[in-house]
Amino acid sequence: MRQKIVAGNWKMHKNAEETEDLLNALIDKLPTDVEAQFIVAPTFVNLASAVQHLEFTNISVAAQNMHQAEAGAFTGEISADMLKSVGVETVILGHSERRSYFGETDSLIADKTTTALKHDMTVIFCFGEELKDRKDGKHFNIVENQLRDGLFHVQAKDWERIVLAYEPVWAIGTGETATPEQAQEMHQFIRDVVRNQFGNNVADDVSILYGGSVKPENAKEIFSKPDVDGGLIGGASLKADDFAAIASAI
Ligand code: PGA
Repeated sequence: MRQKIVAGNWKMHKNAEETEDLLNALIDKLPTDVEAQFIVAPTFVNLASAVQHLEFTNISVAAQNMHQAEAGAFTGEISADMLKSVGVETVILGHSERRSYFGETDSLIADKTTTALKHDMTVIFCFGEELKDRKDGKHFNIVENQLRDGLFHVQAKDWERIVLAYEPVWAIGTGETATPEQAQEMHQFIRDVVRNQFGNNVADDVSILYGGSVKPENAKEIFSKPDVDGGLIGGASLKADDFAAIASAI
């Protein structure tokens, strides 16, 4: 069954105390009467405390990244097993900032996805075209390639633990949002790509989130589109009132 999801990607924001404050505010303000999953992704150092803090609430915790190896001499890295051991069941992979600033390729993200699924984790798989791709009319091609190279190796049965997050790079942190029509057009295309490869069940059940400058003012219209199943929120997820307003728009 397709799920509605609103997830907050906190990126490199909020120290321990600020994390606790924001979590408390979210516990207070997020709606409890809607059929949707709410997820927050604090930094690695605050994951364990966030999991404990959110026990018995309707908010779950995701990591923003992880390493593809099981363990080893990878200074500064975090494994799937470490995340699971502190109660984190979901990981964001392939965010455009990981791709552009940290050189993550489709094939690396494919490997990370394999590792996460092996550990029974849910993957929020991020992808999306850059502005020049859209200007050149290549956005559908780029998005299809990202899906093929990152996810086509995943078995159909494992797709129940894949969440797609379409995030056009030109809309991330820029204040520029895809129009609801642009989002719907791309989400429908994405679902068709998944349908052609994996069949109707996988395509109809997979949640496709939109990300890129979602705010309280535009969330309702974007979420109202039939192939938009929620959002991955950056900047606006750092303010409890804004994130709660976006969550209420689902
Ligand atoms: P934004 O970020 O909402 O600040 O544009 C979205 C994201 O990076 O996931």
